[in-house]
Amino acid sequence: MQPYRSKEWAKFRSEVIRLDGNECTVCGRATSDGVVLQVHHKQYFPGRPPWDYPYDACETICRGCHAAAHGLIPPKFGWEHAGWDDLGDLTGTCECCGTSIRYTFLVQHPDWRPMEVGEICCDHLTSSQLASNLMESKRRYAGRLKRFVSSSRWCVLPGDIHRITQKRLTVEIVPVGTAFKLRVNTRMGKKVFPSALDAKANVFELIEQGTLHAYISKQVSHRP
Ligand SMILES: [Zn+2]
Ligand SMILES: [Zn+2]
Ligand SMILES: [Zn+2]
Repeated sequence: MQPYRSKEWAKFRSEVIRLDGNECTVCGRATSDGVVLQVHHKQYFPGRPPWDYPYDACETICRGCHAAAHGLIPPKFGWEHAGWDDLGDLTGTCECCGTSIRYTFLVQHPDWRPMEVGEICCDHLTSSQLASNLMESKRRYAGRLKRFVSSSRWCVLPGDIHRITQKRLTVEIVPVGTAFKLRVNTRMGKKVFPSALDAKANVFELIEQGTLHAYISKQVSHRP
C-alpha cells in the first residue's frame, strides 16, 4: 500500500495544514487563491511512515513553493539584484514568468544560476522595490521629457525657429538645411540634430543634467 494514500496520512496531512492556518507557510496563499496545498517534511527519518512525525517537522506549502523547496523550479525568495539593462524594445523574456520585457534585471541566488527577469519578478525575488523604483523614475523622466517637448512655452518664429526661454537662457532650434542646430543666447552650437524633436529632447537632457550652460560654452569655444 502507498503510504501517502493511507487514512493515517490523510489525517496527519489535514492536521498539519490546519495548524498552519490553511495556507502556504512560504507564500501565504490558500486554496481559495487557487493553489494546491501540500505537506512537506523538513527532515526525513529513515524507515518511518510519513505521518509518524512531530507536527513541527512538517510544513504546509503550496505546490509551486514545494517544487522550489525541492530545487525543481527557482527559489522564490532570497535573490539579490545584480544589475539591469535596457534592451530598447520588448525583445527580452522574463526567465521567471515568461512575459516579454524591455528592461531586464539580473538577479542572483546562492542556490541557483543567475536569471534575467522583469521589473515585477525582480521586486518579488529580491523582496524589494529596487526595480519598480528604478522604472518609476524612468517613467517620471519620460513624462517630464514629453511635457517639455510639447510645452506651450515653445514659440515658433519666422524661419521655423522654435524658441523657449529657460531661466536666463533663450534656447532656439534652428533649421540648417534638412537638419537642426541649437542656438543658446544667440550662440549657435555645432551639434546637428536630425529633427526638431531630437534637438528639443537634447535641450531637455541638458536642462535635467544642469549642463545647458556648460554645453553651449563648450560647443562655441571650438569655433574658429
Ligand atoms: Zn517536500
Ligand atoms: Zn506557496
Ligand atoms: Zn516575470
